[in-house]
Amino acid sequence: MARHRLAVAPLRRRFETEAPAELPRVAALVAAERPADPMHCLRPRLIAATARRFLAAFPGEVMYAVKCNPEPRVLRALWAGGVRQFDCASPAEVGLVRQMFGADAEIRYMHPIKARPAIRDAYRLHGVRDFSLDSADELAKILEEARSRRGVAQALGLHVRLALPKGEAVYDLSGKFGAPADEAAALLAAARPHAERLGLCFHVGSQTMGPQAYRDALALAGRVIARSGVTVDVIDVGGGFPVSYPGLVPAALDDFVAAIREGVAALGLPGIRLWAEPGRALVAAGVSVVVQVHHRRGNALYINDGIYGSLSDAGVPGFRFPARLIRAQASAVLEGFELFGPTCDSADRMRGPFLLPDDVREGDYIEIGQLGAYGGALRTAFNGFDRAHLVDVGDPPLLQTPGHPAA
Ligand SMILES: *Cc1c(COP(=O)(O)O)cnc(C)c1O
Repeated sequence: MARHRLAVAPLRRRFETEAPAELPRVAALVAAERPADPMHCLRPRLIAATARRFLAAFPGEVMYAVKCNPEPRVLRALWAGGVRQFDCASPAEVGLVRQMFGADAEIRYMHPIKARPAIRDAYRLHGVRDFSLDSADELAKILEEARSRRGVAQALGLHVRLALPKGEAVYDLSGKFGAPADEAAALLAAARPHAERLGLCFHVGSQTMGPQAYRDALALAGRVIARSGVTVDVIDVGGGFPVSYPGLVPAALDDFVAAIREGVAALGLPGIRLWAEPGRALVAAGVSVVVQVHHRRGNALYINDGIYGSLSDAGVPGFRFPARLIRAQASAVLEGFELFGPTCDSADRMRGPFLLPDDVREGDYIEIGQLGAYGGALRTAFNGFDRAHLVDVGDPPLLQTPGHPAA
């Protein structure tokens, strides 16, 4: 087996905290360690509690979208919260989940465009039976590759990805994948004879702020199913469930669940199974990153993490994140700051504004919250700034999402 170089140094754990009675607090760790590299603060209990809440609320099966944060400790916390199903979208994700959890994990390959060896290995080596597709070519590819060495394909789940019109999500996810309604109906009919489970799936877009998007998508799914003329076993409403960011507080989790229940009930398809693939909602609040200020220039802070590290979404996408200064005595007056990352690229700039005490200065530590989703997962080794540490903490999240656990 060929060995591949990792693009990014793995997050290294600095403190052994295997099932301690009390997890340490961020401020205490900073005081004791004075970390020179970004310190990723994982809240395993919060992640487990959030998973438990989501699983209890959602009227169907919940698989975690691994790309959102594949850190093994995050996956373990989700497992502790009851997650047993995983939406994987690459051979590495499939291998990681299988290696960590063995046969008890159910892996579904929900990337509509896959390499042939990826399908083959997922099917033969890792027992994956469910695959998504959005074209006749991909259907043919799956049917050719997802079979045993004796040429038998058993228990296949085939899930047609439906394109949705661009909605109010912060990230549109229909620009790249998804079959238009007519085509999706034809694909359902074409896949039916080969599928033990036939599904229709979609993604309303990441960080979708209101539940109406799910209602609309389900109504469209109902029309596609009717047009297909075949029985569909599963509707997979995808991910997209939002969390709070500064100035961006979404509807409560229960409102999304109610909209999905109503939307499915309105289709009048008794016995249809419901799946979801949340990423962000399960893990965003579960990781914060402690950064250090190297230099202050007016209201710009030059820090040791940036858009090539765990703050990618604070760059061009312009996400705002909650921030707090970790210092005992600080000014009570808050001001807006922009941040610059450590690389030499002038694009390594995060306009925020990040609200911090007006006396923040060189050497200070700042904790930036809500970075569990698409934070650490997007780190690069650009310019040599790929060092970071990972610690477990017991702090509450920096921001509360309506309907999510508070600690
Ligand atoms: C990224 C992705 C998800 C997770 O989306 P969130 O917005 O993080 O919930 C789920 N399903 C698919 C197919 C994805 O590509």
